[in-house]
Order: sequence, then C-alpha cells, then structure tokens
Amino acid sequence: MPTLRFRALDISASQVPQAVTAPSAKISDYFGQNVFTIDTMQKFLSKEVFKEVRAAIESGQQINRKVAEQVATAMMAWAVSKGATHYTHWFQPLTGATAEKHDSFFELSNEGKPIENFSGSALAQQEPDASSFPSGGIRNTFEARGYTAWDPSSPAFIMESRSGKTLCIPTIFVSYTGETLDYKAPLLKALHVLDEAAVPVCQYFDKNVTKVFATLGIEQEYFLVDTSIYFARPDLEMTGRTLFGHSPAKGQQLEDHYFGSIPGRVASFMTDFEIEAHKLGIPLKTRHNEVAPSQFECAPVFEEINLAVDHNQLLMDLMDKVARRHHFKVLLHEKPYSGINGSGKHNNWSLCTNTGKNLLTPGNTPKTNLMFLTFFINTIKAVHEHDDLLRASIASASNDHRLGANEAPPAIMSIFLGQQLSAVLDDIEKKVGKGKLSPEEKTDVKINIGRIPEILLDNTDRNRTSPFAFTGNKFEFRAVGSSANCSAAMSVLNLIVANQLKEFAREVDSLMDKGQKKDDAILNVLRRYIVETKNIRFEGNGYSDEWVKEAKKRGLKNITNTPEALDLMVTKKAKKLYTDNNIFSERELEARHEILLETYTKKIQIESRVMGDLAINHIIPTAIKYQKILVENVEGMKDIGLKPEHYSAQLEIIKEISEHMNIIKKNVDDMTEERRKANKLEYARDKAIAYCQKVKPYFEIIRYHIDKLELIVDDEMWPLPKYREMLSIK
Ligand code: ADP
Ligand code: MG
Repeated sequence: MPTLRFRALDISASQVPQAVTAPSAKISDYFGQNVFTIDTMQKFLSKEVFKEVRAAIESGQQINRKVAEQVATAMMAWAVSKGATHYTHWFQPLTGATAEKHDSFFELSNEGKPIENFSGSALAQQEPDASSFPSGGIRNTFEARGYTAWDPSSPAFIMESRSGKTLCIPTIFVSYTGETLDYKAPLLKALHVLDEAAVPVCQYFDKNVTKVFATLGIEQEYFLVDTSIYFARPDLEMTGRTLFGHSPAKGQQLEDHYFGSIPGRVASFMTDFEIEAHKLGIPLKTRHNEVAPSQFECAPVFEEINLAVDHNQLLMDLMDKVARRHHFKVLLHEKPYSGINGSGKHNNWSLCTNTGKNLLTPGNTPKTNLMFLTFFINTIKAVHEHDDLLRASIASASNDHRLGANEAPPAIMSIFLGQQLSAVLDDIEKKVGKGKLSPEEKTDVKINIGRIPEILLDNTDRNRTSPFAFTGNKFEFRAVGSSANCSAAMSVLNLIVANQLKEFAREVDSLMDKGQKKDDAILNVLRRYIVETKNIRFEGNGYSDEWVKEAKKRGLKNITNTPEALDLMVTKKAKKLYTDNNIFSERELEARHEILLETYTKKIQIESRVMGDLAINHIIPTAIKYQKILVENVEGMKDIGLKPEHYSAQLEIIKEISEHMNIIKKNVDDMTEERRKANKLEYARDKAIAYCQKVKPYFEIIRYHIDKLELIVDDEMWPLPKYREMLSIK
C-alpha cells in the first residue's frame, strides 16, 4: 500500500477539533466582555473621575496623574475580577508584529505582605528596551531607552491564553528622546491634524460640527494550511511563502471556490476565532471563501480608525493563536503561492463628524451634497498630490509580489469614481466659470449636484481592479498588503487629506476675502481641482496592459519594487509635508526609511538563503537518488541484453535531471556570490537595491528548474509537500 507522504492527509474527521461552544447563543451577550469599555469604566469609577476620563478621551487631551491613578485602580479591579494576573503595555513597533512585556500585578507591600497592585504610573508609562526594536540609526546617536505611553482612546482588553489572562494596554512607543518608533504614534498625530483641518471646512456648511474623525473597515484575506504540511515546508515556515512548487493540475481556473461552501474544519476554526474576537470587542461580521483554493476573508463592521487598526493587529494575532488549536497555520503573506491569487487587506475609509454624518455620503439637498463633493474632491486632490507617498506606504518585499502582478491592484496609483460621479465632476468642470457664477449656471449646477443621492444607489457600478475606488459612501484602498499594519497606509491617507483640506480652506477663504460668495468660492476651487486631478482618474481595467501604457502617457508612476517605492517617502515634498504637520522630523523620517529598507533586505536575504539551502540540501540530493535508480535500471536492462531503444525514456530523464541540476547548482552559487557582494555595501539603500536587482532575479531561474524536477522525479521521493497537497484542506 502506498504510504502517505504527509501526516495531514491522515487527519480524520474525528481528530479535528470542534469549535468551542459560544458563551451564549447571542453574540451581543458576550461581545466586548473582555474589554474595559466606557460602560465598564463607568461602573468602576466615581462620577467625577469618569467624566474627566471621558472628556479627555473625546478631546484627545492628556489624562492627569491623579486621574490615571484612579483609572489604574479601576482597571486592575476589573481585570482581577476577570481572572487576570498580569498586565502588559501592548504596542506596535516597526517590526510589524505587536509587542508585549508582561508584568504581574503581584507585589510585596511595605510590610512584606503579598498584594495585587497597579499604579497610575504603571498604566501611563513603561520602559521596554528600545534598543532591541528597530530604530534606524536613531539609537546610535540618541538615548537607547524608549518608553511606551498609554493611548486612552483605545480601550484596554484582556487576552486569554492557556497559560492565563493578561490585561493589555494599548500604547505608543517612543524613544527616550521623543522620536516615534512605532506605527500608532504617527497615526494618532495624523488624526489630530485631520480633525483640525476638517472641522473648519465642515463649518462652511454646518456650524454644529466640532469634531471630525476617520472611520475604517478592514477586509482581511488569508490562506489556511495544515500545520503538518506547513512544518514540512521550510520555505513557508521561514519566509511565509513557497519558494518552489509546480502549479497543481487544478488550481483556481474553475473559479469554484469563491463564495463556495466553507469546509467543516475551516468553519470550526472560524467560529472559534470569531468568538474570541467578539469577546475582545472586535465586531467581525462577514466571513467567506476567497477566489483561490484555501483562501478566506473576514471583515468587521467599520470603527473609528485607531481602534480599527488596533483590532486588525489583534485579530491577526488571534487568528494565529486559535488556528493552532485546529492544526492550521494562517498564512498572512501577500503571495504564499505562485500562480494563485494573493491576499490583500482592503481599507474602507471614510470621514465622520461628531454629529454622526458620514462626510462621504451624499445628502438629499444641494447644500449637503456640496459638502459631500467638497470632501470627495479634496480626497481625490490629496491622492493626486501625494500618490507617491501612498505608493511608498504599501511597499514591502511581500507586497511586491502582488503589486505589479496581473491580479491585485496595480502599483500605479489611480482613482475610480464610478460613471455617475465622473459625470457630475465633468458637469461642474464644464459649467462653473473662473469667477462669479451666473444665476443660470448656479441653478444648473445645483440641480445636478442635488441629483447625486439617487444615482449612488446604483451599486452595479463596481470596479474591482482599481487600487483606490469610491464605493458609494467610502473610499476603498485596496493595495494594502494582507500582512501589513494598516497604520502605515492610513497615517499617510489621513495626513494628505488633512493637508489638502487646510489648503482648500486657505483658497476658499482668500476668494471670500476678495468678495466671492461662499458657495461660488467653494465651487470655483473644486472646479480647479477637478481639472488638475484628471490624470489620476481611471475607470477601466486596472490589470490590463493598455492601462500600463496609458498611465505612462499620463505621467503616472508604475513602481514595482520596494527600494524604489521607498525613495518616494523621503523626497523634498514628503519631508515638507511631514515636518509642516509635525508628524515626523526629518531625522525620524529618514530613520523610518532606513528601517523599511533594512527590513526589505533581510526578507530577501532570508529567502535567498532558504532557497539555496533547500536547493542544495533537499532537492539536488533527491534528484540524484532518483537518477541513481534510473541508472541502475538502465544498467540492469543492458545486462539482460536489451537495446537503448528499450530504455530511451530512462536515458532521457537521466539527462534532463543532470541538466536541471547543473543549472540549479550554478545559479545558487552565483546568487550566493551576489549576496556576499551586497552584504559588503555600507548604506541601507544600496544594499536593498543590490538585493532587489542582483540577488532576487535568481529566484525565478532557480525555481523554474526545481519545478521542472518536481515534474519528473518520483512523487514518493519528493521531499516537500506539493501545491496540490498544500492547497486542499482535508
Ligand atoms: P465589499 O463589497 O468590498 O466586500 P462590504 O460592504 O463588505 O464591501 O464592506 C466592506 C467594509 O467596509 C466593511 O468592513 C464595512 O463595515 C466597511 N464600511 C462600510 N461603511 C463604511 C464607512 N462609512 N467607513 C469605513 N468603512 C465602512
Ligand atoms: Mg472590498
């Protein structure tokens, strides 16, 4: 009987863990039970302190020490009542993962008595060692220590694990000298600038608006693979993607996976992690199969953006933890399998006011629609002005496989508006003159603007190939990678929109100072923006070759590799934007640039090493063994007097194996030499470029020949699980 090569194929239904039972049949019964929500806080705090904390959270003001002390006491009382023994500051360093350093509440009192304690200062600040997190050279000249500081706008939560429960406090991470070293701090700063910039613009239309915040709904795509197969693929384990593997006979050509029924084993896993997510207040709502085999997606209901990003970070962590119980490994890499769709993370973004109005939803009067158009067109203008920065914000070694391939949004930044809104903008462009509008012009424009709401109900107008698409009441930035921390892209988006809104208000005010009426001034500025941003609007197929050509004609960049894309974050224009708005100093920006380059280099370096090791230690020895069997077979046939025509197939395969092996060996050697040269380069940018241009090109050549060997070597001898085994969930 043929032996099964990998244990995964052995798992029978009875061994598959069932989903845990939900604490209640209704999600609303246990939603947020592990979160120190505003409501919980109210129960644990005195009225006065609660009022102060709430006001501070809403206004983004600092919380003073005395109040922090009381919040800490309340938080601990709540956490201990839920069984937590430890607490940690939870933060998002530039490594990409979240970081924690656990301390217990346990202390000895002055009298030596064991007690539980959690002080206001422990809540407000902690000092993990910054020197062990990437800081892009900052640590060489500045104090190495860093500290984490409480972000009261994201509620504390309790993480449960088999080993116990821990109170997690969302924090920012800064160096001792004040440089930001994480993803959260720039996002919070950008949101602050956005609020300041957007409120005055809202007030052109509605004096009740006193606060504007961004909302975000994140669709998370991922693959699942059986744990035993995962661990039999060193490339998956070490790089997150398969470096080799021939496409299976049946891939996604049949397109039968999308919205197909979810396999039972996967459904158990999903149910399980959804329960955990709901307990943590993550409002997961949808789940379904994705286009590729064993690819899935989940999405929560949108939330305030800082919270949404925290929740997504938490979710990725949670999925990984829960998957282990189900013998799955979650692959968040943007392109785990060649020839099969990659994974992204669509960022659905909008703006909302304290009065509850979504600024990207048209209203039902010309006035509210002019407000909608103002935010709509300013967003377009912001993306047009700073498409470079948006491109840089999504650059990573793993996302390079997606951007620039013919499936994901292309690396070219463009915006899709939909036919009807395009027509509205064209109309404004045509009718609004340079100065004062005639009464007829005004009526005409207003009638058309007034028509917006009904046309937007038409949901069929959906373009799936655009990196930045308007989808009825929000923009959807689709080029963000599935493994990314969304803060990187969202800090940029909010910042550029904020900066643009400031510019817009300046222009409108100046026209009004010159005597123009408010509506006229607004329409005139918007009209100019419409004209200026035309080249970034694209309604066609973003995956097509024609678009690549057309975009080039329009002067849009098409940068398909990370080192080059990262250059865009340190241009003069970018530096000015970041420093003008107090997001980063030039040094901080350069440090960040360097960290991203270093991360890129390390990723390619690891891939290259793993590729070399697997080729030389796994693949070639296997090919030789099989070749030896063939050689012995040929010799035996000769011995019994058979002629070459009887073993011509064997001879051919023997020769083919040698040819592939020689090419593999030669290219691995050459690649190693290129790596050696690259490692000697002093500057992070040069090194990243060398890895990109000199080392990485070998991947494809080596892979090609290994995949050919996979096709001819005896299946039972092949040392790695094959695509067909990885992609089918039993
Ligand atoms: P799709 O068709 O792209 O899958 P969905 O309707 O499933 O779109 O929505 C995707 C995400 O967009 C969800 O997380 C949803 O909550 C979010 N979303 C809806 N409205 C807004 C909004 N105003 N701001 C931010 N995100 C939103
Ligand atoms: Mg979507």
